[in-house]
Amino acid sequence: VTEGPGAADSEALATLHRVFGYEAFRGEQDAIIEHVVAGGDAVVLMPTGGGKSLCYQIPALVRPGTGVVISPLIALMQDQVDALRALGVRAGFINSTQDFDERRMVEAEFLAGELDLLYLAPERLRLDNTRDLLSRGKISVFAIDEAHCVSQWGHDFRPDYLSLSLLGERWPDVPRIALTATATRATHEEITQRLDLPTARHFVASFDRPNIQYRVVPKADPKKQLLAFLRQEHAGDAGIVYCLSRNSVERTAEFLTANGVEAVPYHAGLEAGMRAAHQSRFLREDGLVVVATIAFGMGIDKPDVRFVAHLDLPKSIEGYYQETGRAGRDGLPSTAWMAYGLNDVIQQRKLIQSGEGDEAFRRRASAHLDAMLALCETAQCRRGQLLAYFGQDPDAAGCGNCDTCLTPPETWDGTVAAQKVLSTVVRLQRERGQKFGAVQIVDILLGKRTGKVIQFDHDQLSVFGIGADLTEAEWRGAIRQLLAQGLLAVEGEYGTLVLTEASGSVLRSEREVPLRKEPKKPATARSRQAG
Ligand code: ADP
Ligand code: ZN
Repeated sequence: VTEGPGAADSEALATLHRVFGYEAFRGEQDAIIEHVVAGGDAVVLMPTGGGKSLCYQIPALVRPGTGVVISPLIALMQDQVDALRALGVRAGFINSTQDFDERRMVEAEFLAGELDLLYLAPERLRLDNTRDLLSRGKISVFAIDEAHCVSQWGHDFRPDYLSLSLLGERWPDVPRIALTATATRATHEEITQRLDLPTARHFVASFDRPNIQYRVVPKADPKKQLLAFLRQEHAGDAGIVYCLSRNSVERTAEFLTANGVEAVPYHAGLEAGMRAAHQSRFLREDGLVVVATIAFGMGIDKPDVRFVAHLDLPKSIEGYYQETGRAGRDGLPSTAWMAYGLNDVIQQRKLIQSGEGDEAFRRRASAHLDAMLALCETAQCRRGQLLAYFGQDPDAAGCGNCDTCLTPPETWDGTVAAQKVLSTVVRLQRERGQKFGAVQIVDILLGKRTGKVIQFDHDQLSVFGIGADLTEAEWRGAIRQLLAQGLLAVEGEYGTLVLTEASGSVLRSEREVPLRKEPKKPATARSRQAG
């Protein structure tokens, strides 16, 4: 009897039932598994929570030999292996957290053919003794997890991933499957090329997460805004709040707790025991809120996270998508909520300028930030923008489940306002040789005689008070949007405002500047029946 794909397929299904206890495959899982079990290479693009793990775990169980999983997430290997062992899968890992004896034991199990799955960090494969070890055992499949780490353009580049192209040369008969939740068209091509997978079959799942409602609110008093959001919409729900700094993580967790929302902090500066305790509480308990830096969440598998909130702007759409993707894995309605304001733009631009890295790195970081800003500032469907970013065709009619679809923002012709801002920056620089930040520019436009305005004689400028027609919030919104559109730039450690090459065309009235209206009140108060 020859074993055709059908037989392999039914064996895969039997394994799904017997080992994992699941009824049926999801989405393209069965097609992917069938292809890999039959010995084919695969590139799998599937969003977080889509079920990538089974795509290599089942081939590893069905094919003879050990499935070798390359993963950069060393901190998760122990958990992954424990979870598999609890299901009766013979799994092990080799990484730098182990002592010599532990490693020797795993190596012995591998060589004896007693492992179904072996997790390895990519840097291990640079070592001759690891390669020798692998050559002496039998390998069923190579799984390259987080495959976007091979992309030098991506936000997670790991040089060690470049050496993974050797797998195909050294083990030409072992199928390879590369998986990622983060892939633009460019990254997708890089994965295929750099991992040397020219004949791989490509499986691209939809990146749409229809049950997640995307929302961006103008940042005023973020902690209070967050609290109101939680009380109104997510009382008693489990969720993750992301902040940029450890300090704001601590303060936000304290603030929520003091206001009756049970919240724990999570960041790399916490003692390891406490971090682990907070993480396991989050997984175990109902309705706990974790306030975290992005250190939290890699591989967190909790199906009923009802909201993900960002108090600070993520550095890229990839990051935003991955973080918000931790909400609603069970398919039930969930919210991705973000407070975003002028200071986010200034802070992130400053970070890029003053940060480490060469010019190319800075340009890349800027491009990532620009895309993120465009998502925040769009007056179009946010889901549509997200999907388009990942190379998917969005629904032209809008999704009906994001803030811009639910409450379409009004736009206005901000050309004159933009000219006023830019003229003020120009005057200060040309007439006074000075550069100032957004606060001073707004005070000058509004004609406010603050201490600092008097001190610098800024009430003598011809532009003093030319912006009395707009409110302070509107001017800050206009400056934020000009920064986002690249019509204004931030310089130096104080975040002073300077012109860009594109500013001239606005000053010369050669281009119009459409701006989004700043909501005066949260969306509900403005929801319009008429339109
Ligand atoms: P990813 O790695 O793509 O983020 P996982 O492999 O961690 O996703 O899977 C996400 C969740 O979905 C896990 O809890 C997993 O057990 C579950 N899952 C995956 N495939 C199935 C399936 N066919 N049926 C039921 N649950 C599944
Ligand atoms: Zn929408």
